[in-house]
Amino acid sequence: MIQTQLYIDGQWQSPIDQGTRAIVSPADETVIAQAAEATRADARLAIAAARRAFDGPWRQTTIRDRARLLNKIAELIDRDAEKLAHLESLNTGKTLTESRTDMGDIAATFRYFAGLVASESGAVNEAPHHVISRTLREPVGVCGLITPWNYPLLQAAWKIAPALGAGNTVVIKPSNLTPLTTHHFTQLVAELDLPPGVFNLVTGGAEVGAELAESTDVDLVSFTGGAFAGESIMKAATGNFKRIGLELGGKNPNIVFADADLDAAVDYALNAAFFHAGQVCSAGSRLMVEDSIYDAFIGRLAERLPRIVIGNGFHGETQMGPVQSAQQHEKILGMVQAGIAEGARLVHGGKRPPGDVYKRGYWLEPTLLVDVTAEMKIAKEEIFGPVITAERFRSEEEALRAANDTPYGLAAAVWTRDLDKANRMSRALRFGTVWVNDYHPYFPEAPWGGYKASGIGRELARIGLDEYTELKHSYINLAPKAMGWFGA
Ligand code: NAD
Repeated sequence: MIQTQLYIDGQWQSPIDQGTRAIVSPADETVIAQAAEATRADARLAIAAARRAFDGPWRQTTIRDRARLLNKIAELIDRDAEKLAHLESLNTGKTLTESRTDMGDIAATFRYFAGLVASESGAVNEAPHHVISRTLREPVGVCGLITPWNYPLLQAAWKIAPALGAGNTVVIKPSNLTPLTTHHFTQLVAELDLPPGVFNLVTGGAEVGAELAESTDVDLVSFTGGAFAGESIMKAATGNFKRIGLELGGKNPNIVFADADLDAAVDYALNAAFFHAGQVCSAGSRLMVEDSIYDAFIGRLAERLPRIVIGNGFHGETQMGPVQSAQQHEKILGMVQAGIAEGARLVHGGKRPPGDVYKRGYWLEPTLLVDVTAEMKIAKEEIFGPVITAERFRSEEEALRAANDTPYGLAAAVWTRDLDKANRMSRALRFGTVWVNDYHPYFPEAPWGGYKASGIGRELARIGLDEYTELKHSYINLAPKAMGWFGA
């Protein structure tokens, strides 16, 4: 049985009150680990350690030291990739193929930020000859990093790499449903010769996250999760006007025009919605199809759904695993029922798959609801499960209006062969990412984040590093002399 601990001030330790939480496999509900469950008091110790480390010698590290550190972490991720992928699949239920992809992306994230950090040297500004004016980037300070359960280590990497690379110290709090890979990652960091307190792990629930958000000793909170927690973090962060980054939910339209390559569009509609059983913030669960091809398109999708292989993520043939928790399972089924009550028609799924192997665990069939209209709850709210809701549209204007008519703005996709239309739609859609004739790709080099209620700030890309820095103007007068403004 895996047992996890907290990592505070360079020491592995149990929570002050010895709290633990059973971690359950989403595939069969067996207990797979006992995780340390911290309280606010543990979080305060970690914050104090991070504060001391930031105010100590860590500030003297150079960009070369930190770039080397990130590259070293990438090497350790590569070394333990298989172990990490197994832990991620065990804890989240996602397929091993998906987890292996995550681990490759995580190592690439650390390498990308290593390169970026090493290239960061500030700027010398044009100024009078007796003045040296420089623009410097400096670390923000102590960073509280709060991550969700769907991409536990990937979301952590997007935060840890730029935070450490920019010279900050870190307290990370993973979701208490999925702490296992972040715990293993911390074991990797513990192999390195970092000063105590630079990197701290505190596993626990909302109150630990709330402590990070409220503490006046934390200078920045970066949060990925749902809107409800995001709002309370934003309010709590006002205590010391700390910097916040929020990566929240989405309601992401996947818009198919009649002139699209339909073979590709049908295939990608499945990937958009059922990858990681739909538990992706950018999942394309809101399918919008042009009227003239709607019936044929839905017919082709309906044929594919029963062929999706649902199963344990460790089995080679599995294409879709379970959802992560009982709570999520119940919520998704509730959303499907709400859709049917509002007039949507269930074409496939909407229930636990038949068979003994699916009796325990949080299994759901891939689900297709059609005849959905833009006013329905299922077209407006995030479902976060393996559900496609299909809407019909008659014109580009109608598609655009309906797609933008959501509080969210994370990601959208457009399928068309008309380049002019593709460009018009890309510009007019109010989303942080717009894909044309594709779904889901992202790179460390490109920014990730949402418009409107999908968040504040961006991760990845140069801006993903800049979020963890303060900008300073350093002005040095080399030849001071009296100014005489107020006379002699
Ligand atoms: P959640 O909001 O319930 O929890 C996220 C994290 O915040 C967890 O670590 C949780 O313990 C902590 N937390 C909960 N309440 C808190 C509070 N009041 N103060 C501080 N911390 C608190 O979200 P979740 O259910 O774990 O994740 C799913 C959500 O995350 C979905 O809405 C999804 O769209 C979103 N998400 C967004 C992105 C993105 O890049 N935009 C990526 C992945 C997930």
